[in-house]
Amino acid sequence: MADDFKVKNGISQKLLVIVIIPMLLLTAVATIIGYNLTLSALTEQLKKELTTAAAMTGLTIDTLVPGDYSLTGDESLSLYKGETDITRRYELVDTVGEATGLELSLIYRDTRILTTIRDREGLRVVGTGLADQVKSKINVSPDGLFYDKTLINRENYFSYYYPLYNSDGTFTGAIEVCSPYSPVASLAWRSVLITSGLILAVMVLLIVLIFNHNKSSNIAIEKLLKFTKLASSGNDSAELDSSVISRDDELGSIGTSVLEMHRSMRDMMDKDALTKLFNRRSANRKLDLIRSHYEKDGKPYSVAIGDIDFFKKVNDTYGHDAGDLVLVTVANLLQKHLKPLGFVARWGGEEFLMVFDKLDLAPSEKELWNILEEMRATEIDYDGTILKVTMSFGVVCAPELPQDDLIKLADEHLYYAKESGRNRVTAFIPVEDSPVE
Ligand code: GH3
Ligand code: MG
Ligand code: MG
Repeated sequence: MADDFKVKNGISQKLLVIVIIPMLLLTAVATIIGYNLTLSALTEQLKKELTTAAAMTGLTIDTLVPGDYSLTGDESLSLYKGETDITRRYELVDTVGEATGLELSLIYRDTRILTTIRDREGLRVVGTGLADQVKSKINVSPDGLFYDKTLINRENYFSYYYPLYNSDGTFTGAIEVCSPYSPVASLAWRSVLITSGLILAVMVLLIVLIFNHNKSSNIAIEKLLKFTKLASSGNDSAELDSSVISRDDELGSIGTSVLEMHRSMRDMMDKDALTKLFNRRSANRKLDLIRSHYEKDGKPYSVAIGDIDFFKKVNDTYGHDAGDLVLVTVANLLQKHLKPLGFVARWGGEEFLMVFDKLDLAPSEKELWNILEEMRATEIDYDGTILKVTMSFGVVCAPELPQDDLIKLADEHLYYAKESGRNRVTAFIPVEDSPVE
């Protein structure tokens, strides 16, 4: 049953979409930006390390083996520095390589002659050539070259190339310093994922807080929805939970307005537009209720029907508006007397039904005489013309009778009151005069 009041695509679901999707997108964008920033910071740092290591290596080699580079030999060429064959002098690169943890190579023209880089079998990749992008630029880059992705031996490296020149200024090669790309990239990922995880955790916390805060609103909305659905299906006993009305936000105002609207619609259905008394439909219902109370507690109730005497004359003489004014005045008078005792309803044109709850015939009759007395004394001012009316009443106390019979009996008593001269209350009909067949 409760699910009848739930709606597809409710506010909560929409809020979820509105909040979660942008938050996820934001986290993804923040992750990508964060990764790139971290990577470029690490790259910058690495560039400095590689530049320093290259200069250090150049200096070490020049110190240990002074002189110019030259290729000599007939069949198998050897690289000489000055007078020294350095073709297999790996210690020249290993020393700085071990001290810095970087990969180092000595390049002659575009070929690695000495290198710390090894292949999968553990062999130094000597004799391998430079990447094309480096080859074409290194001889014209006296300040050196830095790349963040150079493919060496099928692996990506950050690399720095420090050009070497002989004493006559001719370009002879370069010192290459590398650091593998993937550990740096994964370090950048790791650090950014920690941050993104934290952002995500904070967002989840925020969502939980927002939803907890909205929970009471959602409950109030569900109650409002339930009430409006019940009310619009014509259920008169629909009640709006007081927790909704007592809210001091917009939902509370909506609740109050909906309740007022429901009340005024119920009034429209249950009450007479002119006199604001209960109409015949609701009078029947109220009488049923009083009868059910009698069946439980056995306390009798009395029923009366009253009719304004010679009312047609008022209309005919002073007009319909004057008649309306008389009806309203009479209705107010009856209401004043009946409200604490039971209820009064407009039964027909100028006919009223009065029910005295838990009241016997004698006190009910007495009350009607009081009403009549007050009515006789009432002067109704219609645009300066004073109108006066009287009424006739028939009252009975026969709670055991079915509703229709009871009203018929009250009507017969009213008829007798009219017949016997009007302007009176009839509670008993002498047997011989009874119009009842
Ligand atoms: P009696 O003493 O026998 O009751 O006579 P009466 O003139 O009161 O009764 P009758 O039934 O002949 O006339 C009732 C009139 O009440 C007729 C009708 O036009 C008028 N009436 C009914 N409803 C209204 C109303 O809402 N406003 C006005 N102004 N008149 C109404
Ligand atoms: Mg009348
Ligand atoms: Mg009448």
